[in-house]
Amino acid sequence: KKLGLNELRKMFLDFFESKDHYVRSSYPLVPENDESLLLINAGMAPMKAYFMGKETPPNKRMATCQKCIRTGDIDNVGITARHATFFEMLGNFSFGDYFKRESIQWGWEFVTEHLQIPQDKLWVTVYEEDDEAYDIWNKEVGVPADKIVRLGKADNFWEIGVGPCGPCSEIYFDRGEKYGCGSEDCKPGCDCDRYLEFWNHVFTQFDKDENGVYHPLPNPNIDTGMGLERIACIMQGVGTIFEVDTIDHILKGVCEISGAQYGKERKTDISVRIITDHIRAVTFMIGDGVLPSNEGRGYVLRRLLRRAARHGRLLGIKGAFLCDLMDKVVEISSDAYPELREKREYIRKVLNVEEDRFEETIDQGMEILKGYMESLKEAGKNIIPGEDAFRLYDTYGFPIDLTKEIASEEGFAVDEAVFEKEMEDQRERARSARGEMEGAGWKEDVFASLDPAIKSEFLGYETLEVEAKV
Ligand code: ATP
Ligand code: MG
Ligand code: MG
Ligand code: MG
Repeated sequence: KKLGLNELRKMFLDFFESKDHYVRSSYPLVPENDESLLLINAGMAPMKAYFMGKETPPNKRMATCQKCIRTGDIDNVGITARHATFFEMLGNFSFGDYFKRESIQWGWEFVTEHLQIPQDKLWVTVYEEDDEAYDIWNKEVGVPADKIVRLGKADNFWEIGVGPCGPCSEIYFDRGEKYGCGSEDCKPGCDCDRYLEFWNHVFTQFDKDENGVYHPLPNPNIDTGMGLERIACIMQGVGTIFEVDTIDHILKGVCEISGAQYGKERKTDISVRIITDHIRAVTFMIGDGVLPSNEGRGYVLRRLLRRAARHGRLLGIKGAFLCDLMDKVVEISSDAYPELREKREYIRKVLNVEEDRFEETIDQGMEILKGYMESLKEAGKNIIPGEDAFRLYDTYGFPIDLTKEIASEEGFAVDEAVFEKEMEDQRERARSARGEMEGAGWKEDVFASLDPAIKSEFLGYETLEVEAKV
């Protein structure tokens, strides 16, 4: 019997509990007391204060399964086998307690003994200057030299701006030639999906300051991250993370609603996977209190939601469909994330308001954009004027990234500088007319006008509904 995603999560957390780790539930997606980050993108992100010694952790050893959003990976979603904008990251952490040796040995023990992955399918990478990690893998764990790859800073040195950072060591699974790019020097670190990176061990031994100087930390830390969907993909032997048991439940829902046949045509499959991913992201984000807006994390949410809606159109779906899929996300994830079950009706309402509004204008917007591109083509041009992109945004609710994406599919670019200027002008007009301006449509943002206290308490939804009908 194949191990399910939910079982794998538990196996990992139990394993590290047996190694005296304190297991904590996921932190919310919205960072607390951290202005530097829009959304949590790694297991260690909500623990930065522990790593930097600004706060004392409840235990020197911790393990979590953390909800993550990586919008930076959005263009890979549906294209590669391994990228999602929402995923769960398993991680074990040491705050000045154990270091490289234990982290590597326990990692290997979990993967080869508990998961029983055959050793000959496994590869590891180390940072090119990290002989210490190399020797532990080679001499102590017994990984043969031809399965250890030394990589440079871009791949195997972990840092996010300033703060704790250090060399990494990653574990890869070789899925075989059929997933390879065919290139002669295809090896771990190659962009293709043959060697699947699934576990990154970060040896946080430096603190980088604003001037780019690396200060050795007195008590180095361990921060590891293993993508739960990726390890499930490996254990279940499926082609992509979207075919993993729980996620496949959502994917099937997309196919049911759209009538799409998965696995027949590349373009269709990409749209199916994009919707499958984005509905997970959107459900978890709303569940953690993010509301659609035109800025910040609200924009991330709005962009994902509307991008999913557009791919629904590409699959021929008529009308709103995201709420039905949201239910599927809740079904498969709420045992691990009970907040989803508790907030399901709230999530439904937010989704409904947002999807219904876009529903009213998406078809017209797509027609208009198509018209722009046709006339430009006739004129021998390939840049969509910023004013037109702004009109699509302002009147039809097309996030600029959505317009750019559709445009690029047809070989067009967008004049973003002019778009930005239009945006700034609009902000200026709104500032000078504040209090008077009460328009309908996109100019007035229902969610943005909510009182922050209402937003965080999830109360006052009645107010929102009344406003949404304006
Ligand atoms: P890749 O090189 O494949 O983009 P990464 O090196 O950017 O991955 P890390 O920052 O090392 O990833 O994150 C730790 C782990 O989290 C990865 O080894 C992987 O298992 C998982 N992970 C990272 N990004 C994603 C994603 N977009 N979707 C699903 N899992 C991910
Ligand atoms: Mg990446
Ligand atoms: Mg990588
Ligand atoms: Mg990595």
